[in-house]
Amino acid sequence: MSDYDVIIVGGGPAGLAAALYTARMDLKTAVLDRGPLGGQLLNTELVEDYPGFDSILGSDLAMKMGEHARKFGVDIRDFEPVKEIDVEANTHVKVVRLESGEELRAPALIMAAGGLPRYLEVPGEKEFWGRGVSYCAVCDGAFFKGQELAVIGGGDAAVEEGDFLTRYASKVYVIHRRGELRAQPILVDRAKANSKIEFILDANVKEIVGADKVQIVRYEQHGETKELKVGGVFVFIGFVPNSKLFKVHVDHDEGGYIVTDRNMQTSIDGIWAVGDVRAQLTKQIATAVGDGTTAAVAAAMYITAMKDGART
Ligand code: NAP
Repeated sequence: MSDYDVIIVGGGPAGLAAALYTARMDLKTAVLDRGPLGGQLLNTELVEDYPGFDSILGSDLAMKMGEHARKFGVDIRDFEPVKEIDVEANTHVKVVRLESGEELRAPALIMAAGGLPRYLEVPGEKEFWGRGVSYCAVCDGAFFKGQELAVIGGGDAAVEEGDFLTRYASKVYVIHRRGELRAQPILVDRAKANSKIEFILDANVKEIVGADKVQIVRYEQHGETKELKVGGVFVFIGFVPNSKLFKVHVDHDEGGYIVTDRNMQTSIDGIWAVGDVRAQLTKQIATAVGDGTTAAVAAAMYITAMKDGART
């Protein structure tokens, strides 16, 4: 006995796009998210690379995507953490166990749980989390008005969020471990044109120091230990996919990203993976939405084939 036709774990762009499509195909659909809807959209201030929106706040786009899915009858269960995902023995039934103790069942499951920020794992990082150490510029930037800040990382997130933080900070040091940035040239050019940003390259952060709050970031550069007085340290050094919720083995790569075929099908029949949790070239809103759409269509075909099989 199934509660839904499709359960979607994760309410970011990939999960919400999948939900919109499955619901429009008359499949009884649930979206589960441990927090508010939006996923990484909530960690992005302005979105300027999603077709049709030349500039929109990440949080506004999240709200629009959620409302759109709701309009087609998706059962959206935000603030509902999933504990584990299993497959019932000798059946095709996927079982989703929630932290609340409840269990949900469906023949099809779309994994869209994204991931979590990677931690620096240096002394002071955990101790000062929420007291100067942050992983979200949009959430915490305003607390640092007029202060000097360090941003750690050299990818799109570090450069873009560093630029964003200059709205509040008097100065932002972007500290990156290599001599070359990984971020897209358009973002690097914008940051370089910002007089409040200074790049510190070939620099490895060793420690975050403070009393009540962060006061100093200490790093090593060209064999020398150096330090900067900062009010906050924003860490943007990548992402760890949330693929460990599976109780059964699902093929993944060495980074933990789930491997799929071109239809987003994982190594388990009836389970698809979409968006940032999936092994792929890039993590963009547009690709996440595309993944979700493909998985939804594949899941609908799977359910139709199952129902046809049951009838014959
Ligand atoms: P990312 O592209 O994986 O970059 C991570 C950065 O952190 C790299 O520069 C890496 O250094 C550095 N790093 C990794 N581990 C480190 C450690 N232990 N200590 C110090 N530095 C470390 O991650 P991201 O910037 O979070 O972006 C994730 C994805 O989201 C990407 O696909 C990105 O394109 C996308 N994104 C896009 C936008 C946009 O298009 N506007 C905005 C944000 C994110 P190395 O370079 O030396 O490896």
